[in-house]
Amino acid sequence: MSDSRIRRLVIVGGGTAGWLTAALLARALGSQLEIRLLESAEIGTVCVGEATIPQILHVNRFLGIDEDDMLRAVQGTFKLGVQLNDFGRLGDSYIHAFGDFGLPLGLTPFHHYWLRSRGRPGAQSLWAHSLNAAAAAASRFARMDTVPNSPLGGIRYAYHFDASLYGQYLREHIRPGIVQRIEGKVVDVRLRAGDGHIESLLLDGGATVEGDFFIDCSGFRGLLIEGALQAGYENWQHWLPCDRALAVGSAPGGPMRPYTQASARTAGWQWRIPLQHRTGNGHVYCSRFISDDEAAAQLLANLETEPLGDPRPLRFVTGMRKLAWNRNCLALGLAAGFMEPLESTSIHLVQSGVNRLLAMFPDRHCDQKLIDEYNRQTRFEYERVRDFLILHYKATERTDTPFWRQCGAMEVPPELAHRIELFRRTGMIFREGDELFAETGWLQVLLGQRIEPARHHPLADELDEQQLDHFLTDVRTLVGRAVGMLPPHHEFVARHCGT
Ligand code: FAD
Repeated sequence: MSDSRIRRLVIVGGGTAGWLTAALLARALGSQLEIRLLESAEIGTVCVGEATIPQILHVNRFLGIDEDDMLRAVQGTFKLGVQLNDFGRLGDSYIHAFGDFGLPLGLTPFHHYWLRSRGRPGAQSLWAHSLNAAAAAASRFARMDTVPNSPLGGIRYAYHFDASLYGQYLREHIRPGIVQRIEGKVVDVRLRAGDGHIESLLLDGGATVEGDFFIDCSGFRGLLIEGALQAGYENWQHWLPCDRALAVGSAPGGPMRPYTQASARTAGWQWRIPLQHRTGNGHVYCSRFISDDEAAAQLLANLETEPLGDPRPLRFVTGMRKLAWNRNCLALGLAAGFMEPLESTSIHLVQSGVNRLLAMFPDRHCDQKLIDEYNRQTRFEYERVRDFLILHYKATERTDTPFWRQCGAMEVPPELAHRIELFRRTGMIFREGDELFAETGWLQVLLGQRIEPARHHPLADELDEQQLDHFLTDVRTLVGRAVGMLPPHHEFVARHCGT
């Protein structure tokens, strides 16, 4: 029987997607694969992508990365969630905190007990029942898998880091000799007669790189997946209308808050990401409603410290590649699609794409059934993330600018419309399959943006009023006590991973 195993794997692109993919594949299949990664200093990387979600901790575990060592190298800080300002109404502020709320009690999720308490004397905010939210509000942090002497779950966190340093760190972390880095610009893609698979890449110096399987991490251009294989792009701008960003670092010295801030502006929103050596800032906006100059002026007027240069412009089209895997080519990172950075999902989508590829690793024939299954699962994952993002725009009561009026009035995908209506009528939320965002994520955005449920689950009525008050008070006491055990975030960073 002839050996049809994939031996030569070629990754095009040395941004976060390329190096993360190389590191994960080298760790999983390094003894079987010859991995080559092509990158072009002339083209460079997108150099943004500084906020992450908790799933990134799996990358460290899988690669055997020491967290403190990594955070020192990438000037990192810790992230407990995203604070969203002015999205529901001007002046509103809530946090989408990672982790659980309250304590499990009986059969129904915690939030139904809280919903029942609304309007009662002494009722408190939902977020007073989340350890992550309370720690974020107090700017405190420590790694706490479990809370000592308490039934509360621990702290769930992710990182903020310098995107270019993270790419470098991953590159240095790969065992020497497993991934060969090639500097050069791909100028042509050669397809095999017959099945149309990619056979080789031609570099600007004239060299040829052959491979059995190709991973396109070439960024927005999608050099292989679109340029050569024309996989097609599904445009989601009618739901996710922002199409430009300006990014600028500002001097360190502002508060090192353990969360990302996203503050709505007149035609988009602005991020603030605290790192050790600077603060990352950016304005994501819709060019149909605001000029680049005005967007830059809004960004600079809302920095907490001095800018470190001129804002760097970026353009994008929200959406996804129709076929992330086509023939013997798989796209990851920006080459596979981009849904805007409001919930910091892009790096995670690279990670889950690699996991899916590993679960379905093909032979050189690339069975079409496997390709179809990969693309089906990818579409499910992207569409559910997309809907979660759309919710942030749709659930607005703002009418002060044409941009927000359009967002509030837009038609949304039917699955999202159903979810919103179900919550409004019943307070119920159901996570579908293994979609990325759990019930607590949806809950916080729905409530934080003023979608008020008409009722709570009848199981929450099993407690009498006094029991309900005690239960909620106990949760808040436990949360308060746990937060009291945590040091200030900046002290924790300085002690464990400061530079
Ligand atoms: P790139 O960084 O663009 O890398 C492309 C690579 O391909 C480069 O090495 C380039 O040299 C190479 N290349 C291209 N053409 C050729 C060629 N012809 N020959 C050889 N090499 C070539 N994600 C998050 O998870 N969190 C965030 O907070 C976040 N914020 C973002 C904010 C903005 C405004 C944007 C636009 C994106 C953000 N992202 C975020 C997404 C994140 O930046 C990307 O997912 C991540 O950086 C991966 O990018 P990439 O590696 O796919 O592409």
